[in-house]
Amino acid sequence: MSNPYKTRKGGATVTVFAPYDCGNHCPFCINKGEYSDTSWFDQDKIEESIKLMDSITPECDFVFTGGEPLADRRNLQKMIDLIPGTHRLFINTTLPVFDGQSKEDLIEFTEHNKDKLTCINISRHMQHYVTETPDSYLAELKCPVRVNCVLYKDYPAERLPEYLDRWVGFGIPVQFRFDYTATTPENLYDREHDPILADLNKIADYTGLDGCRMRCGFHFDYKGLELTYHKTLPYSTIVETDPEDGITYDILYDIVVKQNGEIRSDWNEYVLDIEAYKNVKYEPYDLHIIEGDLEHTTF
Ligand code: SF4
Repeated sequence: MSNPYKTRKGGATVTVFAPYDCGNHCPFCINKGEYSDTSWFDQDKIEESIKLMDSITPECDFVFTGGEPLADRRNLQKMIDLIPGTHRLFINTTLPVFDGQSKEDLIEFTEHNKDKLTCINISRHMQHYVTETPDSYLAELKCPVRVNCVLYKDYPAERLPEYLDRWVGFGIPVQFRFDYTATTPENLYDREHDPILADLNKIADYTGLDGCRMRCGFHFDYKGLELTYHKTLPYSTIVETDPEDGITYDILYDIVVKQNGEIRSDWNEYVLDIEAYKNVKYEPYDLHIIEGDLEHTTF
């Protein structure tokens, strides 16, 4: 660690990489390589790390990602059971069904965890990168659900209305995502040269913008459906000098628990200094509404 830590009130989001692979090969995926060899994975260590992070920041957000968290829902359940209801809890998944996991099993899983699950974010891209279960399955889940769709390189813009009409009938909000490996501080809030923003403005009504140092969301209404265009930087530490105390801090947004349980302070290889994090300085969360009336939308 080069600087003392600072983070937002409640603590940085803790993203846990589930120790199970997905069966997909999305071209923009930077995690897939880590799942080619599972011999270093360690669920027991991950569970220890979840408990540790809960003890340091008992109100932080937890996110399970992968790989595929729902490739082994029984072991996922063990990890969820370690997370008290003081946290918001998200799962990023493709909602897989396979021998040994039916639609009914997934519905039962969400019913069982409905008081804990803040939202399940389900990947459904315009190009078919992931194996998809029927859209109707998403609507049957017993917790809030959102669809995530990466608009990658030459996405078929002319098919955006057709894609969105898929979800209007189910009332499932959609989050379009810019390829975050291409996001920079310069283009994060850039409206003039953003082709995705231009495409969305043609088909949906802009309702507002929220954002912080690290990420932003342009909000739209499409036939009554909540639609967000999300951009985030490829790293999650901002180095900044506090004008009040003159100290330069590493401001942490995302803490990452790797498949072997190692806790990192960012998406890179930096290991979190646990003792330093126990003494982290808190600041108010800088994510705020910049434009529009977004009080009722989901950030
Ligand atoms: S489904 Fe997720 S983890 Fe799997 S290849 Fe696609 S982006 Fe990567």
